[in-house]
Amino acid sequence: MLLQWTHQAKTHQILLDCGFSERELIQRLGMRGLSIEALDAILITHEHGDHLGKAPSIAARHGVELWSTFGTLRPVLIAQAKSAMPLRHRRLRAGESQDLFGMQIEAVAVPHDASEPVQFIFNLARDKALPLRLGVLTDLGHASAHVIARFKGLDALVVEANHDVQLLEQSGYPASLKKRVGGDWGHLSNDQSAALLQAIDAASLSCVIAAHLSRQNNHPDRVRSTMHQRLGHAFAQRLIIADQHEGFDWQLADKKAG
Ligand SMILES: [Zn+2]
Ligand SMILES: [Zn+2]
Repeated sequence: MLLQWTHQAKTHQILLDCGFSERELIQRLGMRGLSIEALDAILITHEHGDHLGKAPSIAARHGVELWSTFGTLRPVLIAQAKSAMPLRHRRLRAGESQDLFGMQIEAVAVPHDASEPVQFIFNLARDKALPLRLGVLTDLGHASAHVIARFKGLDALVVEANHDVQLLEQSGYPASLKKRVGGDWGHLSNDQSAALLQAIDAASLSCVIAAHLSRQNNHPDRVRSTMHQRLGHAFAQRLIIADQHEGFDWQLADKKAG
């Protein structure tokens, strides 16, 4: 996911997670008139393949700073000592914020079966009285009290709606994988995602994007109908469902942040 903003008349951009090949990343950035070198940082939430991908080698090759917790990059950082390709790494700690060109980036600890996983809240201080707060929250097994507390009062949110409980149950996944995905350290179901949105008061959100949908165990119609039941018609109407291929525009950020 690409996050772009303007600070003191300059445009900045970060990439959040990097599950693509280098070639695909170059192609996707190229569609927006960008190169890998134009990235101010690549942020990684956790080490699972669809998030970390080849980020360390891509970042090293293109001289881009990679941000993650120590746990996320542990084997890479240990191997770095012997590597010919130096990696610029900024260590993130859950509960702490980093500043990047007017953007405060907060790493929030989440319950997921990875080593020191985090998700992010981005605070764009355009105006101290009214900062723009964007949250990205995927890959978590349940909405912990900590997550609910931190993700309240946002302007926009990308939230996981990974699976439909019934489809997961009926799927051809092995029992162990069903248990992992549906468990407390796996992924949010549509129902859990709707409950989380209720808990953080989704009514205040100008933009909500459902993401990280399982191809096998979910369908956009199921997400929308669950949200419709739990959060009402108006909410379901304005919900955006992210498509892995088509992508999505974070329209609020475009409008408000210019
Ligand atoms: Zn994932
Ligand atoms: Zn994961």
